[in-house]
Amino acid sequence: MTVTTGVRARLYVDQALDAGRSVDLSANQSHYLKHVLRLGPGAEVALFNGKDGEWRARIETIRRNAGSLGVETQIRPQITEPDLWLLFAPIKRARLDMLVQKAVELGVSRLVPVLTERTEVKRLNADRHRSNLIEAAEQCERMTLPEIVEPRPILDVLSDFPTGRRLLVCAERGHAAPINQILEDDTGEADRCAILCGPEGGFAETELDAFQKLSFIRFVSLGPRILRAETAAISAVTCWQAALGDWRRRPPDRDST
Ligand code: SAM
Repeated sequence: MTVTTGVRARLYVDQALDAGRSVDLSANQSHYLKHVLRLGPGAEVALFNGKDGEWRARIETIRRNAGSLGVETQIRPQITEPDLWLLFAPIKRARLDMLVQKAVELGVSRLVPVLTERTEVKRLNADRHRSNLIEAAEQCERMTLPEIVEPRPILDVLSDFPTGRRLLVCAERGHAAPINQILEDDTGEADRCAILCGPEGGFAETELDAFQKLSFIRFVSLGPRILRAETAAISAVTCWQAALGDWRRRPPDRDST
């Protein structure tokens, strides 16, 4: 769960952060700080909640299953992250864990599992994926926690797809232009994009036909090889971040005070 980033552990908390506040630790967080990192009262911990920036806090009390931190000063103000959604057909457990973790590290703002004709995995373990999201966000020094929604049939998701959001559909055969070309030609808003990757068996022809009728969709190719579903998702998000996302910004100062 929690990670250390050089100087201190970094934790996501679902509580307001402000100087002088006291923040409660969950049983898992207390266990980790006390028994894994062997921290005691007075030790520093960095906190973020997705809204109030990142804060330096200090352990006030710590027991096996509970504890509290006193919030001191802000280390980094909250930053806005790109509004990039990833629509993906759920795949088997270990590879899905990896897909979710990498999507968080790469800055995806919303994870949208979709059920397609050939999707084999129909359910997600919400608790497991929330832990995955939190752990990855803590580790990569991300300032927000992406949202993960319940799986829905792909055609339902597309039927109420928000106006103004573009959708890049990763398609390994026909239909598609190289992703770099589509991103270079992109004159629309860099914000509000989504990427869709299919299941291991690919999209059915009927699905591809349905996608083709939608004006907000562009088919993109990720090269001549057939990628596994998680490789395709990670690659497409990487290309988008490099061309239109926050990889174009300078990295923040890593102030270790
Ligand atoms: N239908 C394929 C087959 O069985 O030959 C395989 C599907 S592939 C394992 C899973 C998904 O990854 C595809 O539905 C597509 O969205 C994406 N994908 C894989 N390789 C790709 C490529 N070269 N270009 C674009 N998308 C790709």
